[in-house]
Amino acid sequence: MLPRSSSSSSPWPWITPFLLLCCHAGGGRAQNAKEVILLDSKAQQTELEWISYPPNGWEEISGLDENYTPIRTYQVCKVMEPNQNNWLRTNWIEKGDAQRIFVELKFTLRDCNSLPGVVGACKETFNLYYQETDSEVGRGLRENQYVKIDTIAADESFTQGDLGERKMKLNTEVRIIGPLSRRGFYLAFQDVGACIALVSVKVYYKKCWSIIENLATFPDTVTGSEFSSLVEVEGMCVNDAEEEADNSPKMHCSAEGEWLVPIGKCICKAGFHQKGDACERPPSAPQNLVYNINQTTVNLEWSPPADTGGRNDVTYRVICRRCSWEPEECVPCGPNVGYSPAQSGLVDTYVSITDLLAHANYTLEVEAVNGVSDLSRTQRLFAAVSIATGQAAPSQVSEVIKENVQQRSIQLSWQEPQQPNGVITEYEIKYYEKDQKDRIYSTVRSRSTSAKVNNLKPSTAYVFQIRAFTEAGYGTFGPRLEITTKEEASAAIVSSEQNPVIIIAVVAVAGTIILVFMVFGFIIGRRYALAGPIDSPLLHCGYSKADQEGDEELYFQFKFPGTKTYIDPETYEDPNRAVHQFAKELDASCIKIERVIGAGEFGEVCSGRLKLPGKRDVSVAIKTLKVGYTEKQRRDFLCEASIMGQFDHPNVVHLEGVVTRGKPVMIIIEYMENGSLDAFLRKHDGQFTVIQLVGMLRGIAAGMRYLADMGYVHRDLAARNILVNSNLVCKVSDFGLSRVIEDDPEAVYTTTGGKIPVRWTAPEAIQYRKFTSASDVWSYGIVMWEVMSYGERPYWDMSNQDVIKAIDEGYRLPAPMDCPPGLHQLMLDCWQKDRAERPKFDQIVGILDKMIRNPNTLKTPVGTCTRPISPLLDQSTPDFTTFRSVGEWLEAIKMERYRDNFTAAGYSSLESVARMSIEDVMSLGITLVGHQKKIMSSIQTMRAQMLHLHGTGVQV
Ligand code: AMP
Repeated sequence: MLPRSSSSSSPWPWITPFLLLCCHAGGGRAQNAKEVILLDSKAQQTELEWISYPPNGWEEISGLDENYTPIRTYQVCKVMEPNQNNWLRTNWIEKGDAQRIFVELKFTLRDCNSLPGVVGACKETFNLYYQETDSEVGRGLRENQYVKIDTIAADESFTQGDLGERKMKLNTEVRIIGPLSRRGFYLAFQDVGACIALVSVKVYYKKCWSIIENLATFPDTVTGSEFSSLVEVEGMCVNDAEEEADNSPKMHCSAEGEWLVPIGKCICKAGFHQKGDACERPPSAPQNLVYNINQTTVNLEWSPPADTGGRNDVTYRVICRRCSWEPEECVPCGPNVGYSPAQSGLVDTYVSITDLLAHANYTLEVEAVNGVSDLSRTQRLFAAVSIATGQAAPSQVSEVIKENVQQRSIQLSWQEPQQPNGVITEYEIKYYEKDQKDRIYSTVRSRSTSAKVNNLKPSTAYVFQIRAFTEAGYGTFGPRLEITTKEEASAAIVSSEQNPVIIIAVVAVAGTIILVFMVFGFIIGRRYALAGPIDSPLLHCGYSKADQEGDEELYFQFKFPGTKTYIDPETYEDPNRAVHQFAKELDASCIKIERVIGAGEFGEVCSGRLKLPGKRDVSVAIKTLKVGYTEKQRRDFLCEASIMGQFDHPNVVHLEGVVTRGKPVMIIIEYMENGSLDAFLRKHDGQFTVIQLVGMLRGIAAGMRYLADMGYVHRDLAARNILVNSNLVCKVSDFGLSRVIEDDPEAVYTTTGGKIPVRWTAPEAIQYRKFTSASDVWSYGIVMWEVMSYGERPYWDMSNQDVIKAIDEGYRLPAPMDCPPGLHQLMLDCWQKDRAERPKFDQIVGILDKMIRNPNTLKTPVGTCTRPISPLLDQSTPDFTTFRSVGEWLEAIKMERYRDNFTAAGYSSLESVARMSIEDVMSLGITLVGHQKKIMSSIQTMRAQMLHLHGTGVQV
């Protein structure tokens, strides 16, 4: 059954088959997209309502096409009656831009021979007309106003089917009209006695659709009016392209709607690359890069680049470099650093960088990239920040070795964690019986990388885990190591080593005897008592086996109360004995000198490597005694080693040993990569967070607490005598008895005789040489001031005499710029005239620890730093009214490196600078937060001074 429209009232049962064939037989229809359709009867599903005259001629009929889509058709079949003149007129068709109109007709036409009983009136053609008008002309139809286009005949009325039956065939005819001059037109179909079904009428004109050719855009162009005409069109270069010199792009639009004959072209501007039909370049740098640091993790966030380079495939990649402090060299961060969600191909504008080293300097760059970034040889555009990570706990202790397994003890050794992130002061060894139901952990602590765990059960499996401890806390435990103790021996051979009860008894008795000896020894003279064998763990220079074992198992160790006491090497009659009492004699062949790093009083200071048998080689500083020395010089030189060798603290420079049995005579000290603190701070002015600075101060205070507890008075505590290692750990150095007098360039002769570094020294020490730990506390206050002012000279260019006088009159140094008030208060406490009123180092460490734990207490509301009114105290704030230029001002606040940045941005007067906001400062490209703060704080003071001077505010 063929589908029929239910509304169809066709009296023409033969009409229907054409619908089946219409689409198979269709030919000649312009299929491409170059046509602009003005009328398509098939597309209209409501009634066409064309005018039919006479009304009983052409008749509108509904049908279905092969897709069962309803269509409207017109049919006429007055083949039985002579003298037919049936007109059908379309609705008015507005021509738009068209000049040449195409009319495509699809129709079936019945063969007269196939109609039984038809007389001569039957026709097999119909006529096509048009009428041009500027507007619709109503429904009247006057034949003489129509211009004939053509008489249309069927190519073939029937086609022979497979079974020999005759099938009606759909004809397609196209006619062209034009050029047209009016706004629109009508089409008309005249039937003079044929049997026709007009299946569809389509009216269209042709266009050359807009295209991009040779990087030029050519707009939609209507074809010319004549068949042979070509329309010349000028192209417009695409974005970021320009016309080639004397070769502007042109194309020609043919009557068939095809672009022909391209002439000339556009080319990409410099820096752009042709990708398909566009000119593209890598995106500009990401904007507004901000970061926050959480210990050793840095989170970065940014905004997309202002220019995406003409593409929408922008992603981001991060480049991480670790920079040394001195000299400032940067190397790629390597594979141990983590990036979340990824290092490159980032779609979102944030990333977390994890597992950075603690207390390290990094440069982080964020680059926007797109599909042409890799083609571009132009300079990379990126946003960058320089950051310094905070403190972090040490990484895992993973390489644990069982050195010796006995029935009741196990000896372990291990490597320092890969990232100690500070000075490891202790290891914790946790262990438990593997098969015990209720798991009970025991712990043992050790200061070295080995430990012996005693009091174990024979033939028992134990599980061990080790973690390291630094100032930043405990690291995570390393992997579990299972070890089974040896089988039990017979009771007869149980040694005292295996029986803790015996040990405790023996040690307790021995301890009591030792204690008696010690007390006695102190009374009759330290020298004799402390030289005894029992005291050797306290006095040996840290290299003897006895010493190390003493530290290993604090958990099970019988410990004497109290701390070690410092022995003045001068009290030894034979200074050589003192050296070998406290320092280890090293074999010169274990030392490799690499380069000279400084000049000491007695000879050159070099850096190099020390490789002791069975140990990792380490970087060391090597102090040499110049040739031709006198015996006194040799003694004085080695005296420093005799003192240093008595100390063992993470914040006191560590002595590796001495070489006295060869030449040159050498003192070997742990290497401190960043040299002395004063120069280091001056070099990195403004680059640290307050927490980092306070961390340094805490270290120095802890070192001094240790020295004070040992009864050692330093006498020359100053930033220049503090050394800094690569982890920013500060260590007290420069020990020597005569050194304060001989060595320190700051030391001057005072009226009381003796050389004294006046600016660092407490008044009582200057006046009557009363050097105590309390006078070291005064010096510590000065070191605090040096640190917080990044190595500024205490009391600037005042003379020593003026300093002594000012101090005596009660003046004290003001808070350095941006110094938290709490820290300045601590300095002032250290500078109490009455030395008994000054805090002890122990208290100082406690106060600093509290501040570090509560960073809010270190926040400095800008401009609120206490500034006492005395002229001396005011010296840290430059008087802005005396500066004549921005350059002078920048010099005064030590920020002259940014002079060009200010000039380039047009800040030529101090008034314009005074109006700057923090955003303005950042927009100059000043990325270091410390510098931003320093500049901003100075601007605020400048503003306040201007307000005071002129009585007017500066509008920001
Ligand atoms: P000194 O004789 O102790 O004043 O040392 C002279 C210079 O050598 C110091 O200012 C430092 O720059 C350098 N120096 C001394 N000891 C060390 C060390 N342990 N590590 C690195 N540099 C050092």
